[in-house]
Amino acid sequence: MTGDGGCPRCRTDSVLAVLRLPATWANQAGGAREVVLCARCDAGDPVVAYFAAHGTVRPEGVDELARLLLDWIDRARPLGSPP
Ligand SMILES: [Zn+2]
Repeated sequence: MTGDGGCPRCRTDSVLAVLRLPATWANQAGGAREVVLCARCDAGDPVVAYFAAHGTVRPEGVDELARLLLDWIDRARPLGSPP
């Protein structure tokens, strides 16, 4: 067991996506190099809501999910980084 893939906040395997940050962001964020999207911790996030509603990604839903993920990446920048 390496612990990879689990949520660092709630310690479950409810992680839906992991954003790996460039080193410059990681330094500003105090060393954190990954931002995790967790079905439990981020229950109010539109991406989590998408999976809750659809269960999986269907071909016709890829465009919508891609748009939601891009929005999430915009929001997921560490605090203190430039807009
Ligand atoms: Zn979590």
